[in-house]
Parts: sequence; C-alpha cells; structure tokens
Amino acid sequence: MRLVDTHAHLDDVPDLPSVLDKAAGRGVMAVVAVGSDMESNRKTLEIAGLYPGRVFPALGLHPWELTNGGEAVAGLALAFIEENISRVVAVGEVGLDYKKELVRETGKELQHMVLERLLDIAGRYDKPVLVHSRYAWRDALNLVQRSGVQQAVFHWFTGPTSVLRSAVEAGYFLSATPACAYHQEHRRAVKETPLDRLLLETDSPVYYRGLDRAARPADVAGVLGEVAAIKGLPPEQVAEATTANSAGLFKLKLSEGHWR
Ligand SMILES: [Zn+2]
Repeated sequence: MRLVDTHAHLDDVPDLPSVLDKAAGRGVMAVVAVGSDMESNRKTLEIAGLYPGRVFPALGLHPWELTNGGEAVAGLALAFIEENISRVVAVGEVGLDYKKELVRETGKELQHMVLERLLDIAGRYDKPVLVHSRYAWRDALNLVQRSGVQQAVFHWFTGPTSVLRSAVEAGYFLSATPACAYHQEHRRAVKETPLDRLLLETDSPVYYRGLDRAARPADVAGVLGEVAAIKGLPPEQVAEATTANSAGLFKLKLSEGHWR
C-alpha cells in the first residue's frame, strides 16, 4: 500500500530517523511537513532538506502562535514564508480558531488579518493552503473563497455539513486524522466527503485519545483502515485514491525504495 501523511508537525517529533523508517515500513511514501511559526518553519525546511523526495515542506503561521508577539512577529513569519515560497508544496498550517480563550487573547480581527495575508501569498504563488478551522468553519471557508486561492485542504474538519458541502463544491479537500476512529463529527465529515476530495493525515505529534498516545506518521495506516470502514470501501481503493489526490494537489513526485 502506498500512503501519504499530508499533515505532520515533524519539527515536534523526536527521534525522526527511526520514526520515518517505521512510517516507510507501513507504506508511507511521503510526508507533508507543516510549519506553524518562525522557528518551526525553519526546522521544517531543514528536515525536508534531509529527506528529499520524501518530506515535502509547507510553511505557515498557526492562529495559536499569534499569542506570541501578535502583529509584529506575524510580519516576520510572513516575510520568511514568502522568501522561501519556491521551496514549499503548500502554505500551512494557517487558519482561524474561535476557541474562547484564544479569541480573548488574539481577537478575531488579528486572526483574520493574518490569514488574509497568508492567503494572499498562497494565491500569488499558486500554492494550496492547509487550513485549521476549529469553531470558525464558515469564516475560514469564506476567507479562502474570497481570496481566490485555487486549492485548500480543511484539515481535521469537524464542522457542519453545510460548510463541508460548500467546501467540496468549491473544489477543496478534507483530510482525515486518527480522530476518525472515535470523533462523531469528524467521522460524519469523512463519510460526507467524496473519495476524490479526501486526504489522509496524522497531525503528528498530536495526542489522540483513540490511540492513547502521540501520533506518528506510521499511524496514517490506521487512518486508512478507519476511513475505509467509514466509507465501506476496500482499503486498497482508499489508499490509491488518497495518494493520487495528494500527489496531484501537492505536485509530488513519489519515489519508490528506501528513504535514505
Ligand atoms: Zn496541525
């Protein structure tokens, strides 16, 4: 089976060589490594440099990171992303998060302003965006659509069916995480997303109560099993489709054989 983990924070994953060996052993052909602030963006590029053709970098600025320095720090991260845009397969992780405590700290306005600037970069350089949209599903989709960005992935989507439908109609993708083993809203979203719009991911090293530990890219094999069960399709078919979706969206040239 050939799989792609389309969203992992590899800069936060310890013992990377053995972790990636294990992933390769489960059929993981490639990982899209996402950045979330200046430091993680730098590290993500470094890691991608160590695994050419296997780890493909995305650079972003996560809404959670806006608590560290606000607009000034965001400006530096945006400049870094644009300077390195030719090296990345996507802009991400970006997005909005309306969890109460976060909105109290960052305000929605700053989140919107930063996301608009990130979308502007993605649009000008024709890169897909990897979108976090917790409790902000409709606003995140509206901003992406208004920006004119051609391709977007709504990662770990748990929002309402109405927003999901609009996203699918707009041609966007949804990525399934290990939470699809137990999280009802995420399971419903996976079920309602057509197979040609679906990707697999782990969001490593996030802790999942379904796994009872931190995720690793090898866990994308478990996500495949869950997605296949939810959709009532053979795992081979889901693997083939989601890997083809990933390769097409991120323009990946997937190589066979060893990782190093
Ligand atoms: Zn993430």
